[in-house]
Amino acid sequence: MQFDVVIVGGGHGGAAQAAQLRQRGFAGSIAIITAEPELPYERPPLSKEYLAGEKSFERMLLRPPAFWAERNVEVMTGTRVTAVDPAAHRLETSAGPIAYGTLVWAGGGDARKLTCPGHDLPGIHAIRTRADVDALKADLGEASRVLIVGGGYVGLESAAVLAKLGHSVTVIEAMDRVLARVAGMQLSAFYEAEHAAHGVTIATNALLTALAPAGGIAKHATLADGRHLIADVVIVGIGIVPSMQPLLEAGATGGNGVWVDDHCRTTLPDVFAIGDCALHANPFADGAEIRLESVQNAADMAATVARAITGDPAPYKAVPWFWSNQYDLRLQTMGLSIGHDQTVLRGDPATRSFSLIYLKHGRVIALDCVNAARDYVQGKALVEQGVVVPLAALSDTETPLKTWHPA
Ligand SMILES: Cc1cc2nc3c(=O)[nH]c(=O)nc-3n(C[C@H](O)[C@H](O)[C@H](O)COP(=O)(O)OP(=O)(O)OC[C@H]3O[C@@H](n4cnc5c(N)ncnc54)[C@H](O)[C@@H]3O)c2cc1C
Repeated sequence: MQFDVVIVGGGHGGAAQAAQLRQRGFAGSIAIITAEPELPYERPPLSKEYLAGEKSFERMLLRPPAFWAERNVEVMTGTRVTAVDPAAHRLETSAGPIAYGTLVWAGGGDARKLTCPGHDLPGIHAIRTRADVDALKADLGEASRVLIVGGGYVGLESAAVLAKLGHSVTVIEAMDRVLARVAGMQLSAFYEAEHAAHGVTIATNALLTALAPAGGIAKHATLADGRHLIADVVIVGIGIVPSMQPLLEAGATGGNGVWVDDHCRTTLPDVFAIGDCALHANPFADGAEIRLESVQNAADMAATVARAITGDPAPYKAVPWFWSNQYDLRLQTMGLSIGHDQTVLRGDPATRSFSLIYLKHGRVIALDCVNAARDYVQGKALVEQGVVVPLAALSDTETPLKTWHPA
């Protein structure tokens, strides 16, 4: 088998890649090879509406099944790529060898696993794939005691859903606050209080050191400070490990992700990488090399690669954005707060509608907007242009942020 473009991974990046290529008039053959058994689907609902039972899997499909045949895109589900031969432009896969003209690696990541004693006991779940969530749901009894390891977005979103469903939920976070890696202190404090108000126990500075079984499942959790917790179900939300091993084994430069240039080219000939696994110098992080785990990044990198393949290259410089839904709170993030040296609170968290604005050397670099869609929309131009706004004006909710848009 051979295709002009082979896309590895049928997640947000892979699906967008095929669609973007066709949208730009690419007429060559395209295949998506993806390890999961499903056609490309949305991942964000896994810790939100799908876990809550409010959205069916069919409604999570990124495109109707007929879309792929109509666009002449071969989707090989349940197929894993095990090796890349860059000189021969050939892949080894669980379905046999496949030759490519251009390869786009959109492998995303695998849920990071615990390493403490008891890490592999039954009853321990991740939330990365549909299969993960189906297995989790099957293990949830009525009013289960759920222990969530990790106070990041996936852990907190699942906590919100499961608390609403009547489970007794405890979140343990090794750092001194939830969302420590991605948000400012005021936002962490706000979400900790919201979860407490909904009956979720949040334990910070809580490092899990061991899980022990009872009745054949992980039941007893021990923390570094000697505390003990009992759980019927354990959910681990401690990030991902980028999935790109075959590329690195083939000689691609990388480490915590596969390195790409500003057109998403790897160091291997005719091989691009996009999405969660792509380690890139981001202009909104002062050029620091990072991976971004967001639907926006996967889709915009796919657009960058489609331009490069169709002979109309333009470097990747999309403003990062992200969202998270917990209870009736819609958080929308614009920009990256990495390296901020000041924050300004706009609005009162007690009203459950406010924004936290991040500055670096006086310039607006990011906004976290909670039930504040107008700030989110109007903040984009401030982040894009790194606008300097008087602090008093930023905190004044009577003055719309668009007042400070560059002419
Ligand atoms: C529970 C959850 C909630 C989220 N919520 C949000 C949100 O609210 N907002 C937001 O912006 N982002 C959210 N994200 C992140 C977002 O889903 C990811 O950033 C996005 O899916 C990345 O797309 P991707 O194509 O890089 O990788 P993925 O969507 O992970 O797709 C990668 C695919 O590649 C396959 N694959 C990997 N290796 C191989 C191989 N060797 N051979 C074949 N196939 C392979 C995988 O099986 C997978 O199907 C969430 C993620 C999760 C898990």
